[in-house]
Amino acid sequence: MHKRILVTGGAGFLGSHLCERLLDAGHDVLCVDNFFTGTRRNIRHLLENRSFELLRHDVTFPLYVEVDEIYNLACPASPIHYQFDPVQTTKTSVIGAINMLGLAKRLKIKLLQASTSEVYGDPTIHPQKEEYWGNVNPIGFRSCYDEGKRCAETLVFDYVRQHRMPAKVVRIFNTYGPRMHPNDGRVVSNFVVQALTGRDITLYGGGSQTRSFCYVDDLVDAMMRMMATGPEVTGPINIGNPTEFTIRELGELILELTGSKSKLVFEPLPSDDPKQRQPNIDRARDILGWEPTVGLREGLLKTIEYFDDLLRKGDRPNEVGASRVLVS
Ligand code: NAD
Ligand code: UDP
Ligand code: UDP
Repeated sequence: MHKRILVTGGAGFLGSHLCERLLDAGHDVLCVDNFFTGTRRNIRHLLENRSFELLRHDVTFPLYVEVDEIYNLACPASPIHYQFDPVQTTKTSVIGAINMLGLAKRLKIKLLQASTSEVYGDPTIHPQKEEYWGNVNPIGFRSCYDEGKRCAETLVFDYVRQHRMPAKVVRIFNTYGPRMHPNDGRVVSNFVVQALTGRDITLYGGGSQTRSFCYVDDLVDAMMRMMATGPEVTGPINIGNPTEFTIRELGELILELTGSKSKLVFEPLPSDDPKQRQPNIDRARDILGWEPTVGLREGLLKTIEYFDDLLRKGDRPNEVGASRVLVS
């Protein structure tokens, strides 16, 4: 069925891919973004599409529009970006969620909240299941993001219980792909840009910490499947690729795939940096019939191609914040 779909954070990395896929599926898309970390370049190719509408708006302010579904993605996602203005990060997660839930409540429509594996903090159980409550520092440099996202989840479940709304939560684990911000300091974008420009590959700590990397197309597929579920499915559901790598292995693979002569160097581990992370995706398999299909090698090749093209064009997006995350 044809729908009008609101995507907040639609000019960002994940949001722009989601807008594209929703348009491909025949829907009208209203993309709302304040361009803090998102860029027009990510959605430039959609602007001519008559089913696509762009609205510059900050979700911490109320929004009165008429739509059939809401994907709430607005929030800076990389440590450098969310630590740049931490108070605004918490406001975006919390007040943004209240406004989008208020909109969904008025219209009696579904809302999907993009939550994060960061709600598990530095996890003490491995791999992480949805039942795990997490190990989060409430007052550290990452807290504006982690606690903001935790509070947004609380709001979703209270709106569901209190107002009987069909809202849902997905917990997204590290996702990568074309249109990541080249200066966002995340490990995949950092390593690929460093390898392509011949700069040192910066392993924080010993590089023995682990992450599990999901390619963006798989992630978007899971989000759309989640939105298609009935009101009884609220989540939270983990979405990610359970194949786990050390950060050092990631660095070595990127060197191999780019053929770069860059060297691996060690830098201090940022404060509260989780030591390991791997999703348990049994719920996603059972409830959504979903599992990732793109392996790291294949996904990295597409990502490398994107950054190679970007660097050749010299097309640099907006610069935000410091050049690296806070260490102590
Ligand atoms: P991104 O920074 O590329 O996208 C976020 C978008 O939100 C940007 O376009 C930004 O301009 C916009 N935005 C920020 N504050 C806003 C505000 N107040 N009002 C309106 N727009 C605002 O990051 P992303 O990786 O695409 O992340 C999208 C969502 O997915 C975020 O909610 C993030 O927390 C979540 N997530 C992402 C990952 C990942 O690995 N990429 C992992 C876990 C969760
Ligand atoms: N809201 C919005 N668009 C709407 C409806 C509500 O942005 O179409 C915002 C509004 O700012 C409101 C918030 O969502 O404060 C929460 O709405 P809700 O109805 O839950 O609470 P209330 O209106 O009582 O504050
Ligand atoms: N990391 C790294 N070098 C970099 C950027 C990140 O070693 O240049 C590490 C970082 O310390 C963390 C992991 O890679 O252990 C993933 O970092 P990212 O910021 O991508 O995501 P998150 O920590 O939020 O999972």
